[in-house]
Order: sequence, then C-alpha cells, then structure tokens
Amino acid sequence: MDTDKRLKHTPSLPGDGSHLLALFDSPYQFFWLLTTEGTLVEANRISLAFAAVGREEVVWRPFWETPWWGSDASVREQLRQATDLAAEGEPIRYEVEIWGAEGQVLTLDFTLRPYREAGGEITLLIAEGRDLTESRDAQHTLEASERKYVTVLNALDEGIVLQDRDRRIGAINDSARRILAIDPESPQLRGEVPFEWRALAKDEQELPPDRHPTTLSLTTGMPQRAVVGVRHGSDIRWIDVTTRPLSNEDEASPYAVLTSFSDVTELRQQREMLQHQAQHDGLTNLPNRKSFFDALQEATNDSGGRYGVMYLDLDGFKDVNDTLGHAAGDQLLIRFARRLERCVRPNDLVARLAGDEFAVLLRRVKSAKNAVRIAERILTQAHAPFSLSDGRAIVSTSIGIAVGNHQDDPERVVRDADFALRHAKTSGKDRYAIFDETLSRDQEIQHRTAADLKRALPDGQLEIHYQPLVDAKSKGVVGAEALMRWRHPERGMVPPVDFIGVAEQTGEIVAMEGWLIQAALAQLETWSELKPDFRLSINLSARQLEQPDFPKKFNAMLVESGVVPENVVLEITETYAMQRPREVSPLLHALADLGVTLAIDDFGTGYSNLGHLQHLPFRIVKIDRSFLQNVPDDKRNFALVRTIIAMAQALELDVVAEGVETKTQSEFLYWEGVNWLQGFHFSKPLPPEDFAVQYLTAPEVKT
Ligand code: C2E
Ligand code: MG
Ligand code: MG
Repeated sequence: MDTDKRLKHTPSLPGDGSHLLALFDSPYQFFWLLTTEGTLVEANRISLAFAAVGREEVVWRPFWETPWWGSDASVREQLRQATDLAAEGEPIRYEVEIWGAEGQVLTLDFTLRPYREAGGEITLLIAEGRDLTESRDAQHTLEASERKYVTVLNALDEGIVLQDRDRRIGAINDSARRILAIDPESPQLRGEVPFEWRALAKDEQELPPDRHPTTLSLTTGMPQRAVVGVRHGSDIRWIDVTTRPLSNEDEASPYAVLTSFSDVTELRQQREMLQHQAQHDGLTNLPNRKSFFDALQEATNDSGGRYGVMYLDLDGFKDVNDTLGHAAGDQLLIRFARRLERCVRPNDLVARLAGDEFAVLLRRVKSAKNAVRIAERILTQAHAPFSLSDGRAIVSTSIGIAVGNHQDDPERVVRDADFALRHAKTSGKDRYAIFDETLSRDQEIQHRTAADLKRALPDGQLEIHYQPLVDAKSKGVVGAEALMRWRHPERGMVPPVDFIGVAEQTGEIVAMEGWLIQAALAQLETWSELKPDFRLSINLSARQLEQPDFPKKFNAMLVESGVVPENVVLEITETYAMQRPREVSPLLHALADLGVTLAIDDFGTGYSNLGHLQHLPFRIVKIDRSFLQNVPDDKRNFALVRTIIAMAQALELDVVAEGVETKTQSEFLYWEGVNWLQGFHFSKPLPPEDFAVQYLTAPEVKT
C-alpha cells in the first residue's frame, strides 16, 4: 500500500553513495534519511545501536513514530512539522532530546535539511544529530566554576583587576570598581579602552605615570607594593596596593598585570588616632612626655645649633584643685596649655609632662636670651586671671631654663632645667631661672652633698645644737629647739640649709631625724631632772611625717625615753601643713593624741591664712624670722607681724617669734603679745654641754 508508493519515490544515492555512507557510519553523529513525506529509509549504526533496534524494525515508519523520540507527543509533533518544512525546502535546526533503549537521554544538535537533485527537486530529507550532552556538560561545569569564581571575587573586600600590557581590563571585581570609583558604564570596564587609575602620594599629589605601581610592575617585571590615595570626589581613600606582573617563562616582559588592593582608610585613621593618643596628653591634647623626649632627641641630633629647654609648673595649682575642685583644676590646665602655645614660636614644642608640669622645647636658640624673652611672655600670660566654670583662678608660674647643644645628653639638659625651676621656686616663685654656671656649681655641690650624706650618720658626723626659747615677759629660758648640725670631715660645719633639702630629696633625712629624735628626747629626759617644765622643740620633715605609722614609731621613742609628752614640741612647717590639709589632718591629730604639742613652723612663708589651719591641732605658731627683719622700722613687716599675732590670739594659739636679734625687737614683740622669743639676741644654737652650763646648771638670763 502506502509503503510501496513511498518506495517508488526512493531516490538513488548520488554517485556510488560510498562517501555518504562513510559519513553515515560516523561514530559521533546520528544520521537518518527520510523521504519527503518523512518516512525513515535509512538510519546509521550508532543511532540503531543507541535505540537498540534493528534496521528492519524502524525503516518505512514515519520518522516521528520511531523509538528515538520518547513518549512526548509534542516532541513528535514538532518533528512532524519540521519534516514538512524541510520538504518544502527550508532547513530546520533545533535541539532535541532522544531516548535510548535503557532510558538514557542525549541532547542533539539536530538538523533536518532537504536534499536536492541536480534539477533542484527535493527528493530526500537528511536528518543529522550531533551529541551535545558532553560538550554541554563541560560547558556547564566551566560556566559554573566561572560563576563560582566571579561570586567569590565579588564577595572579596579586596579589589582585583587583571589588565593586559596595554592596560585593558581582562577582569575586575565589584570591590575594585567601588574602591577605584569606576563608572559602571565606562567602556574601560569592558576592556575596550586602556584603563589607568590615578594614584596619590602621601602628600596627596598625583604620582607621576612612571612611578605608578602598575607601570612599575610592567616595566620592571617585579611585584610592587604601596599605600596610595584615590580620589572619591572631594574625599581621598587610601589603598594598600600590590601589583603582580604575569609573564610566560620564555618571555622577559609581562603580558599582564594583576593588581589587588584593599581600602585602608579607616585603618589608617585608627592608626593615626592611636598614634596621636600615644603621643599626646589626653587632657590638654599637648604632646606628652614621650613625644617631648623624642623631639628633644631629634633636636640633639641636629648638629646645627643650640636648643632651649624650659621646665615650668604652676605656682598655687594645688590651691585651685583644693578650693575649686579637680574639674576646675583640669580646666585651668587646658586654658594654661593654650596660653603657653601662644607664647612660643611656631617651631617650638609645648608638652605636658605630668600634673601641672609643662616643658617647652625651643628649637634653635642662639642663647639663653631668646629663651628669656619667651619666658617673660609666659610669666605675663600666666598672671591674667582664668575664669573657670567654678570661679576665677589667679596663678603664676615658675620656669627653669637650660640651653643645650648636640654634644649634650638631652636628659641632662632637662635635669638642668628642672634644677633651675626648683631654684626659681625656692627664690620666691613667679619667676624664671636660667641654669648657668652658678646653678651648675650649686648642682654639683648638691650632688656631692648627697653622696657625702650617706656617711654622715654611720660615721657619727651629726650633732645637735640647742637654741634657747625665752619667755617674752620674764626672759627666762623655758625650753630649746633642737637643730641638726653636720660636721663634714673636710668642709667643717655644714649649715642645715645646705643639707636638709638634699637629705629630704635622697630620703636620708628619715634616718637622720630618727637619730635626732632619740638623742634629743634622751637629752630632754636628762635636762628635765634639772628643770621639770623644760620644753624641747623638734623639727619634722615632710618625709618623716609621710613614713607609714610615724605616730606609732614616734610614740615608741617617746615611751622609751621616759619624757613627759607635754614637754615635747613637734615643729611642722606651714608649707607642709598646707600641702594636703585633708590628709595631714588625721596624721596631726594622731600626733596630738600622744600628748605632745604641735607648733606650726616658719609661719607666713606659705602665704596661708591662719583660718585654714584652725581645724588642725596646732597650739603654737612660730612666726618666720624673715618677718622680723627691720621690725619695727619696716612698716610692712610691722603690720604683717601684728596681723599674725592678732589672728593667732583670736584662734587661741601661743606665738613664738624666731630670729629675734635686737632688744627693740624683743620689746616690741612682748608688747604685741608674743609668748616666747627665740633668736641670736638671746643665744645662738649651742652644743648641749654649753647649753646646759649656760641655762640649766646656772640659769643666765639676758633682757
Ligand atoms: P627653723 O626650724 O626655723 O630653725 C630656726 C633657724 O633659725 C635655725 O637655723 C637658727 O639657727 C636660726 N636662727 C635662730 N635665731 C636666729 C637669729 O636671730 N637670726 C638668724 N639669722 N637666724 C636665727 P639653722 O639651725 O641653720 O636651721 C635652719 C633650718 O633647718 C631650720 O629652721 C629647720 O627648718 C631646718 N632644720 C634644722 N634641723 C632640722 C631637723 O632636725 N629636721 C628638720 N626637718 N629640719 C631641721
Ligand atoms: Mg624649727
Ligand atoms: Mg622656723
């Protein structure tokens, strides 16, 4: 029937057909020959094998009804339509899946095209299928892995750009686009035109092209690393860039360059902040001690010239802290820091070393004169009142100046300036002092004194002299003050002013005074037998008072000596008592509780108001001898002494006047109401034997 009809139409293969058959048996391609109606007339071996059918089972059947097409009706219909089209002369190409005998599926690149006889008549249709599955899989894998890498690359914070030697972009990730601020529409991104980004040097100037890391890697063939800036509008971001040239082994010059970089702007800012914090004082924001010494070292390395060091601190800063509070104190320090900065030259460095201690490095000074001009400016500036949120503060400053050059040890120059500062303080504050030859000599003597003092106590070089204390009315000797003496093996008798301060600094004073206390108490015990009411004054240094458990230790000595505590007077300087009234108070009360009498020594030199001391257990005020100079002729001193006496009386304190040198003074003080007198007018301090002979065994009184 139909089959026969179709047969008739079966064309003969062109030529002997062998070449076609050869193709037909390709192991890689599926081939089918169809009639123009779509009847299968031939199928090659691989297709038959794939479907596991014999040729006879499939030929002469409509192609779309053969087993290759599975069960999907739409696939069959598509194929039927495709044959129709091909028969009309139109080649068809599409992808289609074919089914194998065991259910395996292949994707074919399937074409169906007409075969024309020489006359143009279409006599056959050739169906051809190339297996896509394998290459497709390979492509899928490739695409998938590429996608994976792109995903990974884009997830990186690090920017990555691959460029060929002409700078055209081969690959770039999202971070790179963002960090380098590249317009997403830019043709550079597609590698169409060369891509060059502008890098800024540390000074924010653009790097010349030949210094650009990309260029350097391409020209030198070496990896490069740099931190450079990239402009983002008005902003600059800092990036840490590494460029790696890529080259073939046999080629000298790189064919590409791989640039990777990360944005380190925040890191840099953090580092800068940390660096700033490490070098600056948190309160005043001035450079701190460390940066001061660093700058000083630098100034020393500069062999060009001399530099000045100023060491300064505020006089009366403690008062501000005590009266107005620490917040006000902090505020004052900040304000003072700003004033200091205004006093120096732009090149100089103002630093805060600690508390109210500041230092100024004066770079390149010709002589101390330059420093003096600046010091004078600072003194004036410090005088202007500071209006703080908790009140007004008036302070002054003391300044020590030293000049050094590249040969000097900078630490030493600072010590010299510090020494000069202490000199300025002891000579009355609110002034500057230059470390000159005189001070240098003083310093040397002090160093020597400090060294020699170590031997003073063990070698028995210490002695005690006693100066009589006289009743102002009767002029009878009622007691004495024990004063330390040092008989130096070479220097002879060294006065206390020359060694007490040094001993306080080295701490030697503690043992020395311990010795004095014991010896003086023993002396008092002996003298008490001659004169039961005899009083003995002992001076106590700050160091001694700050010994832990001093009252307890003192009491032990007191008990051991057997003296009547009321006969012992402990002298404490006004300066010490005023230093920390709150902390000093319990200590003084503990001492007073032992039954001894407390006297405030050198009163008037600490500029304190007696009223401030009224909560402290003092019973005696000793007016400093400086106030007796030229009294009563000196009207100012005269007035001061009268005021002190009046105030002391109001507070029910007994008054001792020290340094009484004349009879007039003695009379005047008596009339003003002073209780006891002490001074050269009556006697110099004496060795104990002389004292006993003159005032105890045969009392002798001068009027
Ligand atoms: P100070 O406690 O005020 O002792 C009185 C000082 O004034 C003594 O000086 C005494 O010699 C001196 N002086 C007494 N009358 C007159 C006078 O009419 N005119 C003059 N110009 N001076 C007079 P000295 O013995 O040189 O002692 C000086 C200072 O050394 C003492 O002053 C005291 O602060 C300190 N000092 C002495 N021994 C000790 C001690 O054992 N411990 C402590 N911490 N300091 C001591
Ligand atoms: Mg004294
Ligand atoms: Mg005194």
